[in-house]
Amino acid sequence: THFGYREVPKDAKESLVKDVFSSVASSYDVMNDAMSLGVHRLWKDSFVAHLNPGRADQSRPGMRCIDVAGGTCDIALRILDHARERHADRELSVDVVDINPDMLAEGAKRVRKTMYHNTPQIAFHVGNAQDLGSEAFPDNSYDLYTIAFGIRNCTSVPDVLREAYRVLKPGGTFACLEFSKVTQPLFAQVYDSYSFSVIPLLGTILAGDRDSYQYLVESIRRFPPQEDFARMIQEAGFATGGLWEGKRGAWTDLWGGIASIHTGVKL
Ligand code: SAM
Repeated sequence: THFGYREVPKDAKESLVKDVFSSVASSYDVMNDAMSLGVHRLWKDSFVAHLNPGRADQSRPGMRCIDVAGGTCDIALRILDHARERHADRELSVDVVDINPDMLAEGAKRVRKTMYHNTPQIAFHVGNAQDLGSEAFPDNSYDLYTIAFGIRNCTSVPDVLREAYRVLKPGGTFACLEFSKVTQPLFAQVYDSYSFSVIPLLGTILAGDRDSYQYLVESIRRFPPQEDFARMIQEAGFATGGLWEGKRGAWTDLWGGIASIHTGVKL
């Protein structure tokens, strides 16, 4: 269709996504920084700061978090640091789940350089967001479910949301950071040409891999806009409507909608 992109049959998508992330695993961090000019770090910081994980009252059992599509542990490490630095909480734990063992291996390598290495605070699991499996991940287990730049790679968003709902405890929070629709038309044009020409080019130069980065750009375009995604979260049973810088809403846009954060609470 557009820009020479080939439509991918649904059942082939999962293995394609696997290949994409295997081939980018080792260059993933460099590329992320190059593509977003380092901004993804700021977005991840504000995502975790907003969620404010951890608790000061350590007479209660530690908060249980699950970071799905957790790849290189960008979110998991921020959650752990936030809990420790803000709440002196070292009871909180994060289960990191990713479909791709190569991405998980990159994450594990990073965790090895931190104080969380070999502690019960972090664990790694190969698993599919769409079907986590009720044996490994029983119902009503987690206080916080996060998924950052992962859900758009999944074949079925409703399946991911259903699993998120299942594994969360009642009162638990679902939080998603994802590329989104730029709302300002002029800025949208600039952003479109940037993503369609610059990103695959950077992929070629920095990672020698144009196709994987072309795929990433296409997957961003296909993902539903903010309103539709918020409705899907509600349809999965979540109550949306957090407080974002004093204003109520189901989501908040970052950088004019290049990315957005959606949250929901399991009722
Ligand atoms: N959360 C990390 C971050 O923000 O840097 C990694 C994001 S990376 C763009 C997307 C990740 O989603 C990859 O590690 C990929 O292996 C994983 N992924 C793709 N499809 C998945 C699925 N169905 N279940 C679990 N993980 C998946």
